[in-house]
Amino acid sequence: MTDQNSPVMLANQVQIIGGGLAGLSLAAALGAADIKTLLVDLEPPLPEDPYQDAKDNRTTALIQNSINLLNACGAWAGCEEYATALSVMRIVNLPRGKQKYPSSTDFDSREINDSPFGFNVPNAVLRRVLCTRLSELPSVTHLTSTKMETLESSENGYILGLSNGQQSIAELTVGADGKNSPSRKAIGIKSMSWPYPQTAITCYIEHSKPHQNISTETHYPAGPFTLVPMMGKRSSIVWVEETALAKKLLAQDDESFTKALKEKIKGRLGTVKLFGKRGGFPISAMLSNSFHDQRFALIAEAAHALPPIAAQGLNLSLRDVAVLAELLIDQNNKRSDLGDIQLLEDYDRARHFDVFTRLAAADGLNRFASNDSAILHKVRDLGLSAVRNFAPLRHFMMKSGMTSPLGTPSLMTGKEIKK
Ligand SMILES: Cc1cc2nc3c(=O)[nH]c(=O)nc-3n(C[C@H](O)[C@H](O)[C@H](O)COP(=O)(O)OP(=O)(O)OC[C@H]3O[C@@H](n4cnc5c(N)ncnc54)[C@H](O)[C@@H]3O)c2cc1C
Repeated sequence: MTDQNSPVMLANQVQIIGGGLAGLSLAAALGAADIKTLLVDLEPPLPEDPYQDAKDNRTTALIQNSINLLNACGAWAGCEEYATALSVMRIVNLPRGKQKYPSSTDFDSREINDSPFGFNVPNAVLRRVLCTRLSELPSVTHLTSTKMETLESSENGYILGLSNGQQSIAELTVGADGKNSPSRKAIGIKSMSWPYPQTAITCYIEHSKPHQNISTETHYPAGPFTLVPMMGKRSSIVWVEETALAKKLLAQDDESFTKALKEKIKGRLGTVKLFGKRGGFPISAMLSNSFHDQRFALIAEAAHALPPIAAQGLNLSLRDVAVLAELLIDQNNKRSDLGDIQLLEDYDRARHFDVFTRLAAADGLNRFASNDSAILHKVRDLGLSAVRNFAPLRHFMMKSGMTSPLGTPSLMTGKEIKK
């Protein structure tokens, strides 16, 4: 006889805590391979209108490898309608002292390839498409508005205590629960983090002039101001500002905020109108000491977080997803334990160095680009001029921004996921 008062115990092969874009993508990859997966997320289901998501009004510039992964998961076709090609990356260094004009360099994808650098997609669209995909996968259970409250180890895997009163056990538990990762803390994996005195303001605009698929990153002393093309005559903005000023700007009414915005855009896109909500994201970096423990793996921002410069964060996280999914699918095909420690060590080894080098580069780039030093301003001008005038250097930088020297996980090369 079962005890009427004991909680319902769910049993899965993999359980994922956190349904942000990384957790959703991992669930979709595992579900496509018929691996029995539970995804638990605190957030409620999304509103229908992708521009009205008050929580995440960002877009993600996805590089081709990330798109290949989403395609393998069956989640790219639904994004295409909202995706905008990124053909040119323009970097602008503002004039300083007696200089009259800014210096700038264009990285044009057509110089190295027939295809664009990638596509820009609203996060809310990506989330909705991934949620829809999960609902089509019989081996995935997706619980929204549900919190992981407890995490206890047992011989056969971690036991999750959920806010809906249920419990859940799986061969492998994955922490995909963001920068402050409650699961990482519950397991006791240490991490180092450091804040920057900056906040990223995000919003969408409509404009009268076409953006011509050019993404423009202008370097101000407080941080980069980036315009990223969206469908039609729309762009998304990531405006990195000193935190106290960012708070004031976020508190302003639409008219005053738009005025300040126009000063940054400098007439590049004609007349400008704000639409949708504004968001503010305090910037920090974080690196977890380890990406695994017994029967436990960390992915994405639960394992590492970067300042939002050069559109790296989610693209890097999707590489975690691709590597872990590939190892788990192979293991499942061999009918072996998905919480195997050797598999988890392989995952950690494959990801730690790549993440560390990208984090160091993003940290250095953020400090180099966000300051008022006359010397560093001159160095930035010289750098841009060298890149502008020396095509091989420009081509090398474009190629290395889109690939990892450590190779590309096969799920990011266009390979299908087989059951
Ligand atoms: C301004 C800005 C612009 C960016 N632009 C780009 C870009 O252009 N390209 C790019 O590649 N990256 C970009 N990034 C980075 C990217 O947005 C993040 O890396 C990504 O959104 C993080 O996703 P995640 O799934 O790791 O974490 P999150 O989105 O933080 O998801 C974690 C989830 O876990 C849930 N959760 C937390 N605790 C619990 C719990 N106890 N129980 C259940 N669920 C829980 C949360 O509710 C949340 O849904 C940008 C970042 C910023 C700040």
